[in-house]
Amino acid sequence: MNKREFLKTSGAFLTGTMLSRLAPAEQVAHETAHRTNWSGNLQYHTDNLLLPKNVEEVQQAVKSCTKLKALGAHHSFNTIADSNANQISVKALDHMSVDAKARTVTVGGGVTYGLLAPWLDSQGFAVHNLASLPHVSVAGATATATHGSGSRNGNLSTAVSAMDIVTADGNLVHLSREKDGDQFLGAAVGLGGLGVITAITLDVQPTFQMAQVVYENLSFDQLEHNLDAIFATGYSVSLFTDWQKNRATQVWIKSRLAPGGKADMPAQFYGATLATKKLHPITGASAINCTEQQGIPGPWYERMPHFRMNFIPSSGAELQSEYFVPREKAYQAIRAVEQLRDRITPHLFITEFRTIAADNLWMSTCHNRDALTIHFTWKPEWPAVKEILPLIEARLAPFDARPHWAKMFTMQPSRLKQLYEKLPDYQALLKHYDPSGKFRNAFLDTNIFGA
Ligand SMILES: Cc1cc2nc3c(=O)[nH]c(=O)nc-3n(C[C@H](O)[C@H](O)[C@H](O)COP(=O)(O)OP(=O)(O)OC[C@H]3O[C@@H](n4cnc5c(N)ncnc54)[C@H](O)[C@@H]3O)c2cc1C
Repeated sequence: MNKREFLKTSGAFLTGTMLSRLAPAEQVAHETAHRTNWSGNLQYHTDNLLLPKNVEEVQQAVKSCTKLKALGAHHSFNTIADSNANQISVKALDHMSVDAKARTVTVGGGVTYGLLAPWLDSQGFAVHNLASLPHVSVAGATATATHGSGSRNGNLSTAVSAMDIVTADGNLVHLSREKDGDQFLGAAVGLGGLGVITAITLDVQPTFQMAQVVYENLSFDQLEHNLDAIFATGYSVSLFTDWQKNRATQVWIKSRLAPGGKADMPAQFYGATLATKKLHPITGASAINCTEQQGIPGPWYERMPHFRMNFIPSSGAELQSEYFVPREKAYQAIRAVEQLRDRITPHLFITEFRTIAADNLWMSTCHNRDALTIHFTWKPEWPAVKEILPLIEARLAPFDARPHWAKMFTMQPSRLKQLYEKLPDYQALLKHYDPSGKFRNAFLDTNIFGA
């Protein structure tokens, strides 16, 4: 348990009122310590955290509450997982099983990618992609369309083939891609609105090796005509920039290797120079918490994330925002944001560009379009950042940029409605499974039902 976890879970005790409501399951914890999200920028608006030990206890808890919100690994930056009544964590549901014939893995709703990945690899399998960090839960990450990079890789939600959800009436509902058509497409990026996911099934593929190579200083001019080629160079490619000097400070190329194969490491890449040592995306930060680079082969799960499992990812105290623009307009969108560089850079740790393939999931940020994402890791300076976000959103409006559901944005609900053609269907799906709004919180009331 790290210090953050300790602060968040220490001092937990059971309250009499809640216990009498939920006994005999004894699954309610009341945390006296301040309860915050991972970054510490959000203090949750309830102290009531329910910790069921099995699916039956989840069902009992759901039946007992009029308002409830599932909490995953608490990595979201905004209030999407917040509640002013009760939160429920299913981290005790940590089972994992592979169906080798079907090429799927089914995991409990509490399993993180960090837990899943090494075990899955030991079974001879891999998932198609990972986020920049493995610490997030599968249920929580897929609920918000969390993604890695790779022009031909869909986001993590596209690997979901089925899920078990305890819905508002306490029933356990099984939804699958194969059998449930539209309902499944609406539920896969569920934003925590349908209920509590107790198990989730993902597509897997045979395990593979990867290597990561980093280049420094790629001119933005190269992106005008070579953006697609640059992002297609590896299985997963990321560009980092501080927006100054018309260039990406680093290019991270993650390539799949054939057995016994070696990474391609030319000295130059579109004018960028091969790095001579392991680098952190934030110039000057220690690279100790980063995954191995310099072409050293390793398993997929130790190369696809930027950050190693047992280390604090990214910067730590930070804020994040991210916008998804159509791939074919990516260069123009980058140039539009670049005009704000002198407003952005003083408050920025680093920006990252990634690519993601289109999908058909209703609330996915890549619904019906191949995307490039423009991501901002901000210093923890919300008063300044909240002034800059509307400027960025205005610059990106002509490109119909969609904000990451789990990061900071200031876009109005009316604009979100324009950006998601399936939003009315998603509203209807929530009303079907949750007529009284048990799983709705202020985030969903505003951003989904507020327009
Ligand atoms: C350092 C850092 C790096 C990040 N890197 C990336 C990245 O590379 N790519 C990217 O796309 N995002 C990234 N994120 C964002 C992150 O992936 C999302 O915030 C993700 O949703 C977090 O998952 P979680 O398990 O922490 O869920 P939470 O933040 O706890 O919850 C997120 C949502 O999932 C719902 N949920 C959680 N568990 C369940 C459940 N069992 N049943 C039903 N609903 C549930 C919640 O209600 C909420 O709506 C990063 C975040 C951090 C802090």
